[in-house]
Amino acid sequence: MSAVDDVLERNREYAARFTDGAAPLLPRLPLVVLSCIDARVQPARFLGLGPGDAHVVRNAGARATPDALRSIIISTQVLGTRECMVIHHTDCGMVSFTNDDIRAKLRAETGASADDIDFMPFTDLDASVQDDVRTIRANPLLPKELEVSGWVFDVATGRLDEVKVLG
Ligand SMILES: [Zn+2]
Repeated sequence: MSAVDDVLERNREYAARFTDGAAPLLPRLPLVVLSCIDARVQPARFLGLGPGDAHVVRNAGARATPDALRSIIISTQVLGTRECMVIHHTDCGMVSFTNDDIRAKLRAETGASADDIDFMPFTDLDASVQDDVRTIRANPLLPKELEVSGWVFDVATGRLDEVKVLG
């Protein structure tokens, strides 16, 4: 069975029990979360979010990339969110390579160049959270009153710890 076949079977079970069809378009909590793609990181679960509660933007490393910012702009300016949590996590795969490593791997495996792509790996977890919080706070297209905070989710304990970001 392929992974897609597997999850389609799970979806049939989900749909059979589904009762959230009346959830609102605008999130109940004025919250947008930026988190990593890591399979252990499930913001809906560790933040207690159900359908209709909040926005979750995900990418590799939970980095404040141009496309993450695009989603946060839509979330705040179109769909009314007013608080943003940047949530990185322990044991993130983004610390396991450098840009040079992944560019060399991609060139070897595909023959194509990724030299103009910053994959945004990092070595210091707290510093990467601080960088991304500052990038979001500095974006002039976001609401002035947007509250942006930084967090680290511990994949071993399920705990969420704040990373203070001055300014
Ligand atoms: Zn990660």
